[in-house]
Amino acid sequence: MKEYRGKCPHGEDVYLCTLSNKNKMTVAITNYGGTITSISVPDRHGVIEDIVLGFDTVKEYYGMHPYFGALVGRHANRISGATFTLDGKIYRLAANDKGVNHLHGGLNGFDRKTWTVERHDEHLLQLSCHSLDGEEGYPGNLEVTVSYELTEDNRLSLLYRAITDAATPVNLTNHSYFNLNAGRDTVLLHEIVINADAYTAIDESLIPTGQLIPVRNTAMDFSVLKAIGKDLSSVKGGYDHNYALNSRDREIRFAAEVVEPLSGRCMKVYTTMPGLQFYTGNFLDGSITGKKGTVYQKHAGFCLETQYFPDSPNRPEFPSSLLLPGEEYSHTTVYCFSVKP
Ligand code: BGC
Repeated sequence: MKEYRGKCPHGEDVYLCTLSNKNKMTVAITNYGGTITSISVPDRHGVIEDIVLGFDTVKEYYGMHPYFGALVGRHANRISGATFTLDGKIYRLAANDKGVNHLHGGLNGFDRKTWTVERHDEHLLQLSCHSLDGEEGYPGNLEVTVSYELTEDNRLSLLYRAITDAATPVNLTNHSYFNLNAGRDTVLLHEIVINADAYTAIDESLIPTGQLIPVRNTAMDFSVLKAIGKDLSSVKGGYDHNYALNSRDREIRFAAEVVEPLSGRCMKVYTTMPGLQFYTGNFLDGSITGKKGTVYQKHAGFCLETQYFPDSPNRPEFPSSLLLPGEEYSHTTVYCFSVKP
């Protein structure tokens, strides 16, 4: 289903495209920001509910919000000092994070673009966009395609592809905030396992120091299923950390599993990316009213952002997010939904 939703503030046509399968699972995506506006999946009794934070209407996404469901780019996460150097040239980006660092592609990142709907049927949506040379300070004309596919076994796959005509860092992700109990409470009782033995240490402004710290026997350890809230109070500010996923080759592999005990809903995430930003909605503070009048309090949702490590353009020791002409950026992330009895 493709429904017209009027024009965005820049005058482009906005649609809400829905994917569905025989289990009555649905995923709604708008071409405004490539934003996932809802993911509705069954609980253990077959009750289908929406498990992502956001708004009831597409036009509410035009205002400021913390990237609910957004497709983030050209470079997700932080770039220190809002600058990087490539071939001896300094590139300056918007310092849209506390006036110092760059965050999630800048003031008008990919989450603020109106994407072209290339293809849409019941199971697949393909969006594309051009990001011009110099846009938000990044070099190179970038052509981006993102496909969202829903299978009959409740898997949602996101496939990101990009090519460029000049060297540029590229790091694309989806910024959905999940609450597998349909937003009834915070996510602190959700249990999570993350396939990572280490995470990237960060300074006060959440910029990596370059160090990888083992998680073993610390509050950061999710190597076996543990409630998000169990050790959260001993992590300053809450979880907002990049986990260095095990087996960092480019093959798709298991990244995380989340189980919500009350509804029985379960989500597994697989990715080809080396990093996973685990963010527990620490900056939600009750100032945003979202779907059905829900006030989004601290920890109302969690994000699992599959990506290159933060500040990769300034960290040669991290897996490189640099895309060269003639190469293709290709990244797959799969979210698998099921229930536990
Ligand atoms: C970052 C958070 C940030 C949030 C919303 C997350 O990806 O890690 O620090 O507050 O996005 O912008």
